[in-house]
Amino acid sequence: MSLNPGYSKIMKVAIVGSGYVGLVTGACLAKLGNKVICVDNDLKKISELRKGEVPIYEPGLQELIRDNVKEKRLSFSTSIKDAVRASEIIFIAVGTPDSGSGEADLTGIEHVAADIAVNLKEYRLIVEKSTVPVETGEWVKRTVATYIKNKVAFDVASNPEFLREGSAINDFMHPDRIVIGVESKRAKELLLQLYKPLDVPKVVTNIRSAELIKHASNAFLATKISFINAVSRVCDIVGADVCEVARGMGLDKRIGRAFLDAGLGYGGSCFPKDLEAFISIADRRGYDFRLLKEVKKINDGQKNYIIHKIKSSLWIIKGKTIGVLGLAFKPNTDDIRSAPAIDLIRALQGEGAKIKAYDPKAMKKAKAVLSKVEYCRDPYAVCKGSDCLFIATEWDEFKKLDLLKIKKMLKRPLIIDSRNIYTSEEMRKLGFNYVSVGRRSE
Ligand code: NAD
Repeated sequence: MSLNPGYSKIMKVAIVGSGYVGLVTGACLAKLGNKVICVDNDLKKISELRKGEVPIYEPGLQELIRDNVKEKRLSFSTSIKDAVRASEIIFIAVGTPDSGSGEADLTGIEHVAADIAVNLKEYRLIVEKSTVPVETGEWVKRTVATYIKNKVAFDVASNPEFLREGSAINDFMHPDRIVIGVESKRAKELLLQLYKPLDVPKVVTNIRSAELIKHASNAFLATKISFINAVSRVCDIVGADVCEVARGMGLDKRIGRAFLDAGLGYGGSCFPKDLEAFISIADRRGYDFRLLKEVKKINDGQKNYIIHKIKSSLWIIKGKTIGVLGLAFKPNTDDIRSAPAIDLIRALQGEGAKIKAYDPKAMKKAKAVLSKVEYCRDPYAVCKGSDCLFIATEWDEFKKLDLLKIKKMLKRPLIIDSRNIYTSEEMRKLGFNYVSVGRRSE
């Protein structure tokens, strides 16, 4: 990590909401030398964290938390009051899920803002870290002003987070940029001081622009994914190879290779709900964001397209056993929120299929939401007696499997690979019927 010379000031920081974003932010800010309290209203979570147990899987997080707790730079609490008293900067990192109507549910943000307000005794900077619709900063300000008891100054700022689960620590420590939306010099200086050790571009804007940067960025990335998925459909029709097309496109610096992997479509706790929220706020303010509506439609359609591929290969689904590799929405996480694999398994079960499944980290969480699945101890156990193998998440582990062993264990040599992790040529040589996305199946 490149640390700026001259960095010395230890800052006192609270993070309210100790999930994927809050814990990583808290642990990383502690690692940078600050004194951090992570708060959550989930008593079980805080009690586990106090015992050294980390309730989520994120590579390197357990060790980072353990080291910083030991150095007394990181602690955990259920009390916003204690956090507000101890910290000059308070980040709000609670969840902002889809409310069901497409809009973000900001109940948690409002509760926390009100709770901070009643406990304010001196100046504090309140920072939105959660992904929120544009103008939420205004509402946070109004909420704090409504509930505040003591006549003290405060600022609200926006500092959206761009980390990706699975590489969150590295992303936090080495971001492409840090976006800071502020309305006062004091807030700007505090946040610039906090992030001084990270020698990366700092984009300082007003609060609304910072809020929009986050939504527009996620919407753009989702658009790239739907774009390449649409291209993959054409590839399937004309016999081109979407991996070659993506490579050829991605080497153009104006386009870039990232987020050009055709597959099962985007999922996870961010893209689906952030896209909905962006469409919804644009609609509400009088702009019909048709481009993004189509992005969503293509993404939803991709799952049906993959089911169609499974049906075309297996003919009858009812009574067949489908072995599924991967349950998390992406590799290196245990997060199954809006994971395409989960939707797909439900759809296949709906058609009468029996499911055997394995994921390196996400099985515990999957067990809580999926019933009648035979969870297996490894990929080979999944294959044993299955009518086909379905690759749903591109974990590295799956790229290194003994494919001849797999061929022997499957009832028939059929692999449906919705993440294009193998090459068609390799699979043909091994004698598989290999069905992938946007590539001619041989
Ligand atoms: P999460 O569900 O993992 O964590 C949220 C935490 O907030 C939970 O532990 C919950 O118990 C706690 N919480 C909820 N209400 C609370 C309250 N009133 N007081 C105290 N704690 C409360 O969610 P997450 O994935 O960390 O996401 C948090 C925010 O960050 C969301 O807005 C999300 O869109 C955004 N974000 C997420 C990611 C990601 O990759 N997960 C990346 C960038 C931004």
